[in-house]
Parts: sequence; structure tokens; C-alpha cells
Amino acid sequence: MASFTLHGIPVSRGIAIGRAHLLKPAARDVRHYLVPEERVEAEVRRLTEAIAAVNAELQAVRRDLPADAPSELAAFIDVHALILADPIIAEHPLKIIRSRHYNAEWALLSQIDELSAQFDEIEDAYLRERKNDILQVGERILKVLTGSAGSLPATEPAAPGDYAPQMIVVAHDISPADMLQFRDRAFVGFVTDLGGQNSHTAIVARSLDIPAAVGMANASSLISEDDWIIIDGDAGIVIVDPAPVVLEQYRSAQTKLLRERKKLGKLKKTPAVTRDGTFIHLLANIELPEDCASALDAGAVGVGLFRSEFLFMGRTGHGGKLPSEDEQFESYRKAVTAMKGRPVTIRTLDVGADKPLDKDEETALNPALGLRAIRYCLSEPQMFLTQLRAILRASAYGPINLLVPMLAHAFEIDQTLSLIAQAKQQLRDARHKFDEGIRVGAMIEIPAAALTLPLFVKRMDFLSIGTNDLIQYTLAIDRVDHEVAHLYNPLHPAVLQLLAMTISAGAKAGIPVAVCGEIAGDTRLTRLLLGLGLREFSMHPAQLLAVKQEILGSDLSLLEPVARKVLKVYEPAAIAEAVERLSLV
Ligand code: PEP
Ligand code: MG
Repeated sequence: MASFTLHGIPVSRGIAIGRAHLLKPAARDVRHYLVPEERVEAEVRRLTEAIAAVNAELQAVRRDLPADAPSELAAFIDVHALILADPIIAEHPLKIIRSRHYNAEWALLSQIDELSAQFDEIEDAYLRERKNDILQVGERILKVLTGSAGSLPATEPAAPGDYAPQMIVVAHDISPADMLQFRDRAFVGFVTDLGGQNSHTAIVARSLDIPAAVGMANASSLISEDDWIIIDGDAGIVIVDPAPVVLEQYRSAQTKLLRERKKLGKLKKTPAVTRDGTFIHLLANIELPEDCASALDAGAVGVGLFRSEFLFMGRTGHGGKLPSEDEQFESYRKAVTAMKGRPVTIRTLDVGADKPLDKDEETALNPALGLRAIRYCLSEPQMFLTQLRAILRASAYGPINLLVPMLAHAFEIDQTLSLIAQAKQQLRDARHKFDEGIRVGAMIEIPAAALTLPLFVKRMDFLSIGTNDLIQYTLAIDRVDHEVAHLYNPLHPAVLQLLAMTISAGAKAGIPVAVCGEIAGDTRLTRLLLGLGLREFSMHPAQLLAVKQEILGSDLSLLEPVARKVLKVYEPAAIAEAVERLSLV
């Protein structure tokens, strides 16, 4: 067979090489027939029993979840159990059997087809992808009805770094419960026809750190059992039946990656100190309290950015209601206790732009420039006070810093500080404990803030540079618009000037400055940031060890003079040359 390449969406990085194992869906071409009147109740019972069997199966999977299973998995299995118990699955197909005399499989499939058509109409991409949960639950019931459950072969776990026997699962879609089997078996990657960035397959692949490519259209019908395949998880491509020379290239790239990873793993406990003895704070960016485990595992000395808005999004399951003070308090407390005495910087709600709340219709013409982040919070003071009280209450359980996004005006800073004072007074009145000296910091992510630093250093205890937005607003490029993505450039001299100004204003005023945008985790920029005086980097935990490695090889006394030169040149070639020089000192 000739080699061919399929293109999909890269969702989990790395290279996987192995033989394909196809996970067959339960036959959708099940028999359709009408049941005679006297057999209707027996048919209803057959479906009810199949649903009960799937429920028992899910409960067993949930109960036997290994302690190190990714935290999302339990939640995904719960979602499947909820769908199974919902009248749309547990009752409506029974009605179809009774009213139309369809056999159980037909009744179930017709209900699922109807639901899936309704999901296709939904505009929200995340919700639309949840259609797959319903399909997967339906699939499980069909498997029980047709007696075709269980399609994964028994294989021994592969030795780490061993090539054989390695299998790559190829499926139309994979349910979260089936995903569990990846932990103990020799599967090294997976490819699915369905899925996108937010699909469960993608989320779990990332947390298991397995290369994966999803959204591959009809991969599961083009690939045959036992075909050799390569997943290039960075490019989102799958090479089927590769030529020997291609296979060799990927094998050596894979060996190199594994070697690098192993080497980095040894740095977990090494303090991030430069060659000339300066300690650099390496912190983690998290979205939910559960992420603290990976932050600790990577050796982070604290959380530099807890994006609290993730607690406020995807709330349709709570009737669209925002989280209460107690619910928020529990999440913040969970994070701060998980970090065992290490500081946790909680950013107040940053909604708007590409992170709208479910309840809000997006009406702004230009949402990135609209009522976002602190602007939104100041327009909803009761909601903001609720969050501030929840964060303050959690500060009784460990060190918390409060970080405020998108500040640009003196009056915004003053209003924010006065609301914090108000929240503190409310807690004193209610006799709640909290850290009276909680430190409050500002995100510097609007050029106006970076150009008026005296306003900030006078009022704030620390600064954190949000380069994702600082670059968006400085260069006037919408960060979610792929048509201008090529203009995103952290090395644009305007961006570098604003960065350098902020770092040095903090140093002069004696207050800490961190960078918590994506560039903090980009090893190509680590030396430049160090040379500009940055001492706190906050990033996705997966990037932390590679950045640490850069730091361990850096000498600040050599970097600083070169970094100062970067600020004096404007031509892209001159900047690139100076950055290149930094990598050599
Ligand atoms: C940033 O803007 O750099 C940042 C860290 O915040 P977010 O990406 O959540 O806007
Ligand atoms: Mg931001």
C-alpha cells in the first residue's frame, strides 16, 4: 500500500509511532423492525435492562478509577451517567417503542439522531461538541443491546521508551470511559475522526500527555487494522504506512524528544538559580484548583496566575447561575491548601472578549475593546464584592495575592481598592477570618498602563505583565483572529520597550514584577527576559522545566548588557541578531 498523510487538528504534542488498532463503533446498521403488540412490553424491558447495564458499567468504571487518573475523567463519566439518567435517553425511546412499535435499537437510534440534529444547531462550539457525549452514551447502550461490547485487545503495558508492542488507537470517536484503558495498556497515541480543541478526547490526551490528532474526518475508514502509522502531534498529521526513510526520521526525532524529556524530568527539584547565583521564581498558570497537582509536580514555587473566570464559564448545568460566594471560596481554598504554603495569585474575573459569560449575549461591536475584565467587574459591584469576599476568606488558609486585570485609569485602581476595603469590612462585620495584609497587584496588559507606571507602583504591591493582551493592544491585532495571527510578534520593538519599562519601574519602586503571558513559557525568550531584569515567570506547568533549564545555563552579568542593546535597535534583523547573541552567551 502506498503511504498517505491525513491532516487534522493538533491537540496533544509529541510523536507516536505504532500499529493501528481500530476501535469499531457498534454497528449503526442494526436491524430495524416493528415489534408486534404483545411483544412491546418485553422490548421496553430489553431497552430498560440495557440502560441499567450501562449504568452499572459506568458506576464500576467510576468506582475503580485509578488514583492517578486525570481529574477530568471522573467528571466526564459523571456527565455520561447524567445523560443516561435523563428522560431524553431513559424515557423517550421507551415511548417510541410503545407508540410506534419500533424495536429497541431503532427507537434508541431515532431519538439520538433527533437529539444530534438539535445539537448541530447550537452556535457555541463547546456546547456543540457535547453532542458527542450523547452519541457515546447511545453507542454504549447499542453495544449492550447487540452484545458487541468490549473491543480492546488485552496487551501488556509497554516499558517506558520501548518501541514494541506499541499500538495507536484509531476510532470514529472515543468515550471518556474507554479512554481509561489508555493508562494501563500499550497505547501510545490516538487518532479520531471527530473532535476539536475542546473535545474530551483532546482534553484527556493533553492531561495524559499522549500524542493525538483529532478531527481527522474519515481516518477510521481509511486506516486498516495493523497499518503502521505515525502521529505528529505538533503538526496534527497522521502518516499512514510511512516509507522506511520517513519512519527512520521520525524514530530519531522521537528518541531525541524522549531523551530531552527525561533529562528535564531530573530538574524538578533543582532550584531555578542562574549561574551567577540569582534565584528566579518559576510559577504556574492554572485554570481550576485541580491544576495545582501538575503545578506542584513540575516544581512550581507557587501559582502566578489563577484564571478565576473558568469557575464562571460553562455554567449551563447550574441554570446559568454564577458561582456563589461559598462555591468560589471552596475553590480558592482548595487551590491554596493544595499548594501547601506556596503563594497563589488569584486574578479577579476576566470575562468579556473571547471569554463571555453564558448569560451574556455578545453585543459589543469590538468585544476586546469593550466591557471586559475589571471594567465589567466595576459595572457589577455586587458580583465583584462577592468574588472579593470569597478570595479574602480563602486567604485565611494560606498565602494569596489578589491580581486585577485590564486596569488603565487611576480611578479604576482607586475604585477597585475601595471595593476591596469594603469587602474586608463586610467580612470583619460577619466575623470571618482573612489576611488583613493581602497583597494586591495589577496586570499590565494595556499600553496605557505601561506608559503610566507611576500611577501603579504608588498604589499596588506588585505587577504582572499580561503579554498576550499587551501585544494584542499594542499591535492592534485581535488575538483570536487567525487572519492577523502572523502579526503577533513579542519582539516588536514597541512591545519590548513597554516590557522593559514595566520591569525597570517595578525594580525602582521595589515591587515585584512577573510576566504571566505565553512568552513566559517560551524558551527562545527566557534569556532576553532575564537580561531585561525579569525575576518571576508564570506559565503553563508543562513549560516550566524547559524554562528552568535555560535559567540554569544563564549568567545575568553577561545577558544584561546584550539585552540593553536589544532595546536600542529597531530594525527586525538587528533585534533578531541581538536575541541570537543572547543564546550564545
Ligand atoms: C495575558 O493577557 O497575557 C494574560 C496572561 O491573561 P489572559 O491570557 O488570560 O488574557
Ligand atoms: Mg490578559
